[in-house]
Amino acid sequence: MLSSKDLSFWTACATGLQPVSQAYIDGRLQDAADGRQFASICPHTGRTVAMVARCAQADVDLAVSAARRSFEAGDWSRCHPRERKPVLQKLAQLLRDNADELALLDCLDMGKPISDALNIDVPATAALFDWYAEACDKLYDEVAPSGPDALALVTREPVGVVAAVIPWNFPLDMAAWKVAPALAAGNSVLLKPAEQSPLSAIRLAQLASEAGLPDGVLNVLPGYGEEAGQALGLHPDIDCLSFTGSTEIGKRFLAYSAASNMKMVWLECGGKSPNLVFADCADLDAAARKAAFGICFNQGQVCSASSRLLVESSIHDRFVEKVLTEMAHYQPGNPLDPATRLGTLVDAGHTGRVHGFIEDGVRQGARLLAGGERLRIGDSDCYLQPALFTGVTPQMRIAREEIFGPVLSVLRFDSEAEAIAMANDSIYGLAAAVWTDQLQRAHRVARALRAGTVSVNTVDALDPGVPFGGCKQSGFGRDLSLHALDKFSQLKTTWISL
Ligand code: NDP
Repeated sequence: MLSSKDLSFWTACATGLQPVSQAYIDGRLQDAADGRQFASICPHTGRTVAMVARCAQADVDLAVSAARRSFEAGDWSRCHPRERKPVLQKLAQLLRDNADELALLDCLDMGKPISDALNIDVPATAALFDWYAEACDKLYDEVAPSGPDALALVTREPVGVVAAVIPWNFPLDMAAWKVAPALAAGNSVLLKPAEQSPLSAIRLAQLASEAGLPDGVLNVLPGYGEEAGQALGLHPDIDCLSFTGSTEIGKRFLAYSAASNMKMVWLECGGKSPNLVFADCADLDAAARKAAFGICFNQGQVCSASSRLLVESSIHDRFVEKVLTEMAHYQPGNPLDPATRLGTLVDAGHTGRVHGFIEDGVRQGARLLAGGERLRIGDSDCYLQPALFTGVTPQMRIAREEIFGPVLSVLRFDSEAEAIAMANDSIYGLAAAVWTDQLQRAHRVARALRAGTVSVNTVDALDPGVPFGGCKQSGFGRDLSLHALDKFSQLKTTWISL
């Protein structure tokens, strides 16, 4: 049976949508203190989705006070973990109940295909709140081996007021990666979404209140990075700041911390992830399918996108042919159409930037085998035909810099050692993938690659229970899994002399 949620259904929903677009502070929707707003623009229509509160210093101060007050009051920070659990579970259910609206908000804000938003982002967000809800009352503290004269208790406490600053590529999901573990650990949270995609975060906070989260425990401050983001980074009463975004801005948060109160800073930054395909890989069709997915999913706007494809010379031409065929399945189209697999890039500026990389690759002598055209569909020129470059050398910009778009650079190698050296020749170390049917090689290469996650015979493997994060200039600290709780809690030693 055909789904009734077709293009006309989603277009009608988009037309009727009236997004909530104020800041969410202390359990209430509020305008920015100075009344300023900014426009959230839909990249596939060019139209304004909503005028959004443009928070700055005064709003950040207000929200920090509310967060601190709620933290000190203890209704959330000191409640029994069993009481946190049903609130987070109810929030997960409310996210599912409002899936259409939430998916639509992200689709309109940043051009992600509605099918991905509905079938991947929203369910993953709900699942993450469920996962941390379940974790709440299953964590035990420690008793250290202190000898007969003492009892040394090591207990985990919430850090206090936590700020989260996130990018636009997975607006709702990224919010959950920060907010769910921070709340599960008992903190009060301030969330600044990216200026391109603020709407689902505001709705998330409303739903959290509906689920029973006390006022002030989750606050959302839409606004610009240089205003709201910087004010959070420099605020003297924020204890911890968790950031996902570019390496350049991540470094600024370290400087903000040093210049203010030495708040803990956790960084999930950029990547240029290598995908190594050895000639002994038995299922080259699967490898090609995943290589195409790894660069086209979310229009290539994924920090861990497999943007460098390293192929053993003996299978190079045959494998590239297969990848080309698979990439042809990703044709740009209206994100509101459920059949679309590749939507728009986030905005015209970013599309131009990605296209500039493609021109640069051609100028530097790489061979553009397919794609790379900037397309106009309807009123929007934010569409890009996924680009496949061969003949890429490690010194070229398209092999070194994070493009954050559907641009795949193929490099050749002749030996395992050369593949590893090439893969590690990057300032980044977020993710990597290896395709081989030799067990020993899989382990050997996985050990040698400097990356937070190495996927073997798949790409970009991810699960709520498995840590995600990088090394080198991809950042430090881990999102997801119980390890994320380490960022949002601190250890207290209570030493009792007996
Ligand atoms: P940015 O680093 O530009 O922005 C991220 C966040 O920081 C946004 O909320 C932004 O606000 C804010 N910000 C920008 N400038 C400042 C500033 N001067 N002071 C304080 N805050 C600031 O990244 P993008 O949003 O462009 O996202 C793309 C980047 O994110 C890519 O490099 C990608 O690799 C990385 N990323 C990493 C992930 C990971 O897990 N490692 C996951 C997803 C993305 P505003 O939007 O208002 O500018």
